[in-house]
Amino acid sequence: MLDAVETAVNRPSDPSRDAREHVPLRAAVEALPPYVPGARPAAGERLWKLSSNENPYGPLPSVVAAIAEAAADANRYPDMYASELVEALAAHVGVLPEQVVVGNGSVAVLAHILAAVVDAGDEVVYPWRSFEAYPIAVSVAGGRSVMVPLARDGRLDLPAMAAAVTPRTRVLLVCTPNNPTGPAVHADELDALLAAVPSDVLVVVDEAYLEFVRDPQAPGAAADARGAGAVDVLRRHGNVVLLRTLSKAYGLAGLRVGYAVAPARIADGIRAVSTPFGVSHVAQQAALASLRPQAQAELLARVDALVAERERVVAALRAQGWDLPESQANFVWFPLGEATSERAKQARAAGVLVRPFAGDGLRVSIGEREANDAFLAVAQGWLADR
Ligand SMILES: *Cc1c(COP(=O)(O)O)cnc(C)c1O
Repeated sequence: MLDAVETAVNRPSDPSRDAREHVPLRAAVEALPPYVPGARPAAGERLWKLSSNENPYGPLPSVVAAIAEAAADANRYPDMYASELVEALAAHVGVLPEQVVVGNGSVAVLAHILAAVVDAGDEVVYPWRSFEAYPIAVSVAGGRSVMVPLARDGRLDLPAMAAAVTPRTRVLLVCTPNNPTGPAVHADELDALLAAVPSDVLVVVDEAYLEFVRDPQAPGAAADARGAGAVDVLRRHGNVVLLRTLSKAYGLAGLRVGYAVAPARIADGIRAVSTPFGVSHVAQQAALASLRPQAQAELLARVDALVAERERVVAALRAQGWDLPESQANFVWFPLGEATSERAKQARAAGVLVRPFAGDGLRVSIGEREANDAFLAVAQGWLADR
């Protein structure tokens, strides 16, 4: 999702800077990793955009209608706490409304969670490589990043994360499925993590891709609880927060609606530091329309179609000879190391935008069938060219 906000940061060494400027930025801000400009098609360029894990389907007609109707009220402030949406989300998840906090995308909600619990110099433990927003959110919150390397096959190493906890640790971030590598944590692994971590350390379970998970060992994967995710884990522990979004499965990335599900007291704290009116009226109404039973059934049928596409793409890649980590999300990960940037350029030349993480690997989102076929042809070429 960060593609959309990537801009050239004004680096301190920039010769165009005015010599009269003496206002120091916070050291943590000066040290933020520079963003690689996001891959977006230039004006008029025809490219398949498989670089941002977006849902290739546009909003449902009923959702577009709700957006259009809400637009007429744009002169009014939105409902500050998005009460109607919070109630709908609470019913959707199966918790109390006071346990739900919405925000301008789940990245903003994560920033608010950290603002509520992290003091200067506190440690936040998270896997790496994982979601690129984590190191930035931690630094901006004044915290210190403790990055724990992934285990084999792009899986989170939860025992190593538990072992990385010190008296200064306030938060652990568990990204499941992990962006950009793809595997989901298993219920027993998460239980073991929570048994090992002190109960005053917050464990944030980032379930941005929850609806795409089909791993029977994932939390909440039992047949009668499909899509429940780690909500049962939340009920059993006082130090768990779930982070969710309507950007991926629900296809509302452009409207920015994310939410946290937390114990009520922690939710109060997150709400207290949240940007006032952080979710626009248009976004609230679009989210509400997406959660109506009929719309939700249609949206989840699309997710099923994307999961079927994922399985088709993964099977085709295996048949080509690729050995890749398991994906439980709407993307696949190619650990290409030093070849990564070159491969991304080749994909673009072939009409497909993918997401390179220089020197490490390349993430390719699952899109419409034609886009996936275009990418499969690219991947076949890479094998021939090794
Ligand atoms: C895409 C993504 C999000 C969601 O971001 P929004 O701000 O809700 O659009 C959160 N976490 C991870 C790991 C993601 O990949």
